[in-house]
Amino acid sequence: MVLGPSINGSNGEATDDGMNCEILDILYIRSNGEIPCNCSFGEQINLDWAKSDADWDIDEVFYNRKFAHIRESFKQGKMPWKECADCAFLNRDEPVRDLIAQKRISKVHLEPSLACKLRCPGCSRVEQAKTRLSPFFMDPAVWERVLASLSEKSYAVDLFFYCGQGEPINNPRFNELVQLTNQYYPDTEQAVNTNGNHDYPSTIGKLGADRPDLSIVSIDGLY
Ligand code: SF4
Repeated sequence: MVLGPSINGSNGEATDDGMNCEILDILYIRSNGEIPCNCSFGEQINLDWAKSDADWDIDEVFYNRKFAHIRESFKQGKMPWKECADCAFLNRDEPVRDLIAQKRISKVHLEPSLACKLRCPGCSRVEQAKTRLSPFFMDPAVWERVLASLSEKSYAVDLFFYCGQGEPINNPRFNELVQLTNQYYPDTEQAVNTNGNHDYPSTIGKLGADRPDLSIVSIDGLY
């Protein structure tokens, strides 16, 4: 179940200097196409959905009613949602910085998979899998539409980051996602966060020179 934010609810104390977080710098897309706010608390807030429809347009996401509410709230020095109070990305003393309005995104964060074989303590994946809508693997058709729309609207992207709550390489079509990114954004750095439990030569090793520039092996479960 996706919890809806209370747009007209209590949003915290206003300040004179604005407020900021990275939601106007980044784009996070879950394996089922959901676009949530960007932290463990904000992930409860749905901002929109990515779709494979030919007329799907990223600017209809970035300038929808919820993004307008985020922009206006931060300009007024207010928290957009009650969940912001617990958000690791909230900066109460920083003026709002809207990179998206400047046609730049510092990080496009894609969750290729919600599936994972491990059960690391502290990871909310198992709990999320009980309530989140499927599919649990990102469909390359959806990802291609996102990339095409970003490109059509002339967004510069500093980094594509494959992570999210599951193990990216569990998606059997992970290599297709990487190849699509290379096709639309050949000069942008790509990084994958993996648990390191997949056989490299038979998975991303098959991409050869097209593989992500950086592989981060996470050992969250080691304790
Ligand atoms: S501070 Fe608020 S708007 Fe920003 S990412 Fe966190 S929950 Fe979302």
